[in-house]
Amino acid sequence: MLTIAPVAAKAGRTTPAADPNATAPADPAGATVDPGQVLARIFDVRGRVVLVTGGASGLGLAIATVLASCGARVIIADRDETRLAAAASELPAVEPALVDVADGAAIDALVEGVLDRHGRLDVAFANAGIGAGRGPGDATGLIEAFDLALWQQVLDVNLTGVVHTVRAAARPMKQQRSGSIVVTASTAGLRQDPYVSYSYVVAKAGVVNLVHQAALDLARWQVRVNAIAPGPFRTNLGGGGPRRPDADARWAAAVPLGRMGDPAEIRGLALLLASDASSFMTGAVYPIDGGQLLQSPALGPVG
Ligand code: NAD
Repeated sequence: MLTIAPVAAKAGRTTPAADPNATAPADPAGATVDPGQVLARIFDVRGRVVLVTGGASGLGLAIATVLASCGARVIIADRDETRLAAAASELPAVEPALVDVADGAAIDALVEGVLDRHGRLDVAFANAGIGAGRGPGDATGLIEAFDLALWQQVLDVNLTGVVHTVRAAARPMKQQRSGSIVVTASTAGLRQDPYVSYSYVVAKAGVVNLVHQAALDLARWQVRVNAIAPGPFRTNLGGGGPRRPDADARWAAAVPLGRMGDPAEIRGLALLLASDASSFMTGAVYPIDGGQLLQSPALGPVG
């Protein structure tokens, strides 16, 4: 058993001076606490009802996996039936739901079904997203050239789909006076990116300010809204195919930690934002990018 200090000193109490010889800080009450118990309590998601859109693959699947294995009741919503079936057989505890987030009525019906079965919704990850089209490093991705049909497809899923999910989740959470909504944005929503289409950077920038606005709106009901902003992760969207030395070299140059992320590396942030460990966190965007935002990609000279 390890003796540990409380996270915050309570009003009216004084914190004893640190003992330089002590191996661990002393608890003012003199109690000893099992650190495993503390972790279990702070990050406890047992019994929480969690919706993860885009949960059949990549980051969403990693989020669903960690939360289900920590005892949450997880519903994964995805529009890809094959991936959904595979995810459901891999994770028998999760409930699969075939849904397109671009369809607002379908998302409302999904949340109603969750409420019928579980009586509440504690956490919603608005994570489903697509990529389509090239960035301005490619002739088809130039400002005057990009395809407006593709633009609309990406906005329908990556921006409007997130709006559908956030508003459907907000309704029961407001009644409960509690809840955590987590939107998957992107480092591409926080700055320019020559390898990513206009539609993608604009949609992701849009969800960042949606998170700010919704966090302000919903804080009155104790509903928290945050975003995660992944850098390059090895998923079906982010280069999940066979590894290529040229691509690996490009990521090694673009990411200070020298590689793409593994989807499993999203689990800690997901557990933080789904649990009471983040009880005073709202309206923020958390990059998880191997330091990618520290470097600024540029396009080469013309001609
Ligand atoms: P992925 O393709 O592995 O997973 C995305 C999942 O979303 C898929 O299962 C797909 O079927 C589902 N989906 C797509 N459109 C949908 C829709 N309309 N309705 C319901 N489900 C839908 O990709 P991923 O990388 O895990 O993507 C997850 C999120 O992370 C996306 O929002 C993406 O933009 C974001 N992101 C990914 C990276 C990366 O490098 N992988 C970087 C930044 C942000």
